[in-house]
Amino acid sequence: MDMYDPLTSRYTFACPERGEARVVLSSFRTLERLPGPAHPVVYSVHFACTCGGEHDGFVRHDELDWAPLGLEGGVFLNLMTAKVEPVADELGALAATRIGAGEWPWSFYCFPEERARPVFPSAFFLLSPGEGRLGLAVRCPACRRTSVNLVSHDHVDVPFHNDREVGVVEHVFPEDVRATLDAFRAELWSSSFDARRLAL
Ligand SMILES: [Zn+2]
Ligand SMILES: [Zn+2]
Repeated sequence: MDMYDPLTSRYTFACPERGEARVVLSSFRTLERLPGPAHPVVYSVHFACTCGGEHDGFVRHDELDWAPLGLEGGVFLNLMTAKVEPVADELGALAATRIGAGEWPWSFYCFPEERARPVFPSAFFLLSPGEGRLGLAVRCPACRRTSVNLVSHDHVDVPFHNDREVGVVEHVFPEDVRATLDAFRAELWSSSFDARRLAL
């Protein structure tokens, strides 16, 4: 079975309470690339489970960045023909067309560079929900520095849904993830967010 279901945008993990948990990307709390030259690259995930607990799991790089775009296997029920059909080609072609037209499945506002940038979920490393929104720490794929944005859940969970405006913490975060984590928690729900438009 595929770990990611493109129809529900959910990842399947093991849950010690219920056996299986199906969670959206915004339920991830931390995401960390495992060290070493593993191929495929694997990330360890700490996620908020539907059972109310938090557990650890693993996700491959392609499941994180490509599966939500349909660029991996999967099937769907075609309502016109009432047949189960592979979904990859259709979704994948659509995603390729949209990316080719300059639309990005995910984006964020890089505070050190003062500009919006396209990004993939593997660059998200801390996620913290509150007040109906999501604090998101992103390691910029271009400048490698960290920014914290305040976004909607859909901004993370739904490919090609980009908030028109996001909150930005006006703070340059340290390189070290531990220090970033502390600063992230301290700054996140303070009132230091400033709105920035996400035009790429
Ligand atoms: Zn659970
Ligand atoms: Zn940057």
